[in-house]
Amino acid sequence: MLRGLMMDQPLLISSLLTHAAENHADTEVVSRTVEGPIHRYTYADSHLRARQLAQALTRLGVSAGDRIATLAWNGYRHFELYYGTSGMGAVIHTINPRLFIEQIIYIIDHAEDKLVFFDINLAPLVEKLAAHCPTVKGWVAMTDRDHLPALTVTPLLCMDELIDQEDGHYEWPVLDEYTASGLCYTSGTTGNPKGVLYHHRSTVIHALAVSLPDCFSISAKDVVMPIVPMFHVNAWGTPYFGPMVGVKLVMPGAALDPKSLYELAESEQVTMSAGVPTVWLNLFAWLRSNNLKFSTLKRVVIGGSACPPSMIREFADVYGIECNHAWGMTEMSPLGTYGTLKRKHLELPIAEQFAVKVKQGRPLYGVSMKIVDQAGDTLPRDGVAFGDLMVRGPWVTKGYFKAEGGDVLRDDWFPTGDVATIDTDGYMGITDRSKDVIKSGGEWISSIDLENIAIAHPAVAEAAAIGAVHPKWDERPLLIVVRKPDAAISREDLLQFYDGKVAKWWVPDDVIFVNELPHTATGKLLKTRLREQYGAHDWTA
Ligand code: ADP
Repeated sequence: MLRGLMMDQPLLISSLLTHAAENHADTEVVSRTVEGPIHRYTYADSHLRARQLAQALTRLGVSAGDRIATLAWNGYRHFELYYGTSGMGAVIHTINPRLFIEQIIYIIDHAEDKLVFFDINLAPLVEKLAAHCPTVKGWVAMTDRDHLPALTVTPLLCMDELIDQEDGHYEWPVLDEYTASGLCYTSGTTGNPKGVLYHHRSTVIHALAVSLPDCFSISAKDVVMPIVPMFHVNAWGTPYFGPMVGVKLVMPGAALDPKSLYELAESEQVTMSAGVPTVWLNLFAWLRSNNLKFSTLKRVVIGGSACPPSMIREFADVYGIECNHAWGMTEMSPLGTYGTLKRKHLELPIAEQFAVKVKQGRPLYGVSMKIVDQAGDTLPRDGVAFGDLMVRGPWVTKGYFKAEGGDVLRDDWFPTGDVATIDTDGYMGITDRSKDVIKSGGEWISSIDLENIAIAHPAVAEAAAIGAVHPKWDERPLLIVVRKPDAAISREDLLQFYDGKVAKWWVPDDVIFVNELPHTATGKLLKTRLREQYGAHDWTA
């Protein structure tokens, strides 16, 4: 073999912030703090504090490979933790504070977290956790001395005080790029949560891939506001691609209500944002009722659950915002596919362009995909055949932390648990999560398709379709619907709305109207709960 003569330079997370500090020193990072005021500083300031933090962690006895947990919203201190911990060779373990407390305790214990950093509005949660977390050697409030909450947990430390004690003269160590950098547990809708352990290399390559024009398409001219939390798969890479590209970052903190998000986006001139469908459903309902529009927002990324096609259309037609569909999962860092058009689609009528855009998108370079049948045989890429979606790539997990769940790969492919089609152009369309697909008379009905139709009805705010047990067909689709405020719609009207949109046997057999639907800690419809509650539906009633 003739070896190439390029430098052996590992891909390290610290290099992202170093790059920003050198080339985008005055670019701002703006945060709505949980203490109240808006905080603004620059990448140069952030780089200094991240190095001081690395020094402080070293002084506290943190060493390479130690897990450092966060219970925090999107903000500058959380951002510093991303770099201070991973940069020094430790692992940032972001925890979703909306999980059940038993799950949080399980996760902290499983990860053997050494320190837990927390936003002060989560102090009551910390108070409840502390007695149950023997691995934790310190609880660090992400605030200054003046705002330190009165807690009985010991030791209680103050993040700003730790940072202020250090001088910042710190060189980031040159690590092996396969060193673990971040840990994120899947939400555990089945069984215990499982830890996905990223490394520096996977994180940096993922950040490069998602920045490309056919993906998030971000540049140093952009102002990016991640609504998706930094505890939900690293805010889909924002803390990494932000400094890589030199965008102005706008962090909304804990104020995720529509009014606060809108005001922050307007005052900071946000051009691009990302979040799950429920966030956008709420935000746009609020805009509609207040007769407002965004003035600078141009692009929106929607992922985490299927984005209703009606939403993509409304964003474009009413608000002039390009809305793209992203698909991925915790195990994929998270991005796998992104829904942008190709040159050949530009000549198509708008309706046909939408038909392409409502799919989950095509793979980013690096991600390979295939669909297989129950025997594991590969199915055709014809946009019609659907089967279990398998993936692989440099930012896809090969196994869970501490080998939880055993050997998860099948012939070196990761089974996503999604059922999908793939077409000749590479576009993937999710039919369903395999456990949510409705099995009627031996055939499959896509719950996502049924939900998308319901949500396109002007009187419907949110909808879930589940398979409820049926004496003759095994399961039949049952629709559970939240009406828009003041909207009137009957069961019959809604079922009629399906006419001509799906095969007759796909039309739900019944509709239940409810005031709200249950969601998971990451904003997805909690179908397990719905099945428990409505799965034994009385079809004769
Ligand atoms: P968890 O698996 O812990 O619930 P993830 O955020 O990793 O959390 O969820 C990944 C799953 O979310 C995917 O396997 C898929 O079922 C669903 N999902 C993510 N993005 C989309 C999308 N754009 N359309 C449909 N489903 C999606």
